[in-house]
Amino acid sequence: MKLMVIGCGGVATVAIHKCCENPIFTEILLASRTKSKCDALAEKLAPSTNAEITTATVDADSFESLVALMKEFKPHTVLNVALPYQDLTIMDACLECGANYVDTANYEAEDTDDPEWRAIYEKRCREKGFTAYFDYSWQWAYDERFKKAGLTALLGTGFDPGVTSVYTAYALKHYFDEIHYIDILDCNGGDHGYPFATNFNPEINLREVSANGSYWEDGRWIETAPMEIKREYNFDGVGMKDMYLLHHEEIESLAKNIPNVKRIRFFMTFGQSYLTHMNCLQNVGMLGTAPINFEGREIVPIKFLKALLPDPASLGPRTVGKTNIGCIFRGIKDGKERNIYIYNVCDHQECYKETGAQAVSYTTGVPAMIGTAMVAGGIWKGAGVFNVEEFDPDPYMEALGKYGLPWQVNENPVLVD
Ligand code: NDP
Repeated sequence: MKLMVIGCGGVATVAIHKCCENPIFTEILLASRTKSKCDALAEKLAPSTNAEITTATVDADSFESLVALMKEFKPHTVLNVALPYQDLTIMDACLECGANYVDTANYEAEDTDDPEWRAIYEKRCREKGFTAYFDYSWQWAYDERFKKAGLTALLGTGFDPGVTSVYTAYALKHYFDEIHYIDILDCNGGDHGYPFATNFNPEINLREVSANGSYWEDGRWIETAPMEIKREYNFDGVGMKDMYLLHHEEIESLAKNIPNVKRIRFFMTFGQSYLTHMNCLQNVGMLGTAPINFEGREIVPIKFLKALLPDPASLGPRTVGKTNIGCIFRGIKDGKERNIYIYNVCDHQECYKETGAQAVSYTTGVPAMIGTAMVAGGIWKGAGVFNVEEFDPDPYMEALGKYGLPWQVNENPVLVD
């Protein structure tokens, strides 16, 4: 089966490692902006895989560039592990060339000051009640086109979104008649030793964290100020951490796809030092996405900041500690109340030894490969645009155990108030 992977950053590195371990992928084309990164990875992986690996340069912002490459390679499936800015261009190119599409993050506009985008965004804010720059409406709008083409688009197969949504489908299938409350808890107990760095792409990460929080309750969105809701939780394998309520993309799809759900919240852990740095950068305008004029040339502040910060891919050797990501479900089984916590604990150094990447890239890259294998192998079938919770969770869960992300179930968890 021919697979084309777009992007060659932290998440892609792990996803490609794992694709090379899965015999379903016989030919893999690594295509990214910087071809030398693809070449280096191909050289490293070639001796230990039966897959034939080739590399190419592609500009994923350009429909023409993508189509030219896809027409030549003829992929069965395309895994997009570049940036959310490129989702729509890559989906367009997949439709043009007859390839299935898989990604790990929903579409986000790169230039949030573009008046045409802004008008649609502001209408959505008024209608839906949350102000995040990203949402599923753009990609869900491709459903008819994928249906007509007889192709599958699988959205959001990272860890969160991705595994958290599969956990939800699994809990509903095996543990509940109805799920009423979902709390998604994302804890990174890793320490990289830098005063400030982000664990994945800084632009995407800082935009997400500095935005308003929101959660879904009784059929509507409730928005909070950034970091307004704080809780403490004692995470297995990590210990006690502060966590904050954020808006997160799987809340939107789970609210649509999980019947009878009353509330969905997402919490992520942050240390005080991270938050102080981020507030300071925001206060001085370094998180701005609109270009400013500096000494006669235009620069985008957050892109300049990205150039100064450590490359997330370089954090692997320095990061020690564990991540713990999972979901606490509350609902009803056979008329009785039931609570379940499904989670994964992942060790940064073990991930690094295996793939050269830290656990945040690892926990995203492994499910990126698994979702791609579900589509490529025809295990998850269907024409149209889908989120992962819409398919049978069992084969995906089995693959999580096999490819390095085993899960645990606690049937008596401490709940979050
Ligand atoms: P990186 O910045 O490390 O990697 C992005 C890669 O995409 C780089 O190789 C980059 O090229 C390439 N790229 C960027 N723009 C283009 C373009 N126009 N054309 C071709 N290639 C391009 O990001 P991460 O690996 O950290 O993240 C990858 C994706 O995973 C993101 O969409 C992120 O949001 C998502 N993610 C999802 C998570 C989840 O749990 N669902 C968690 C973490 C991340 P170059 O090497 O030249 O810079």
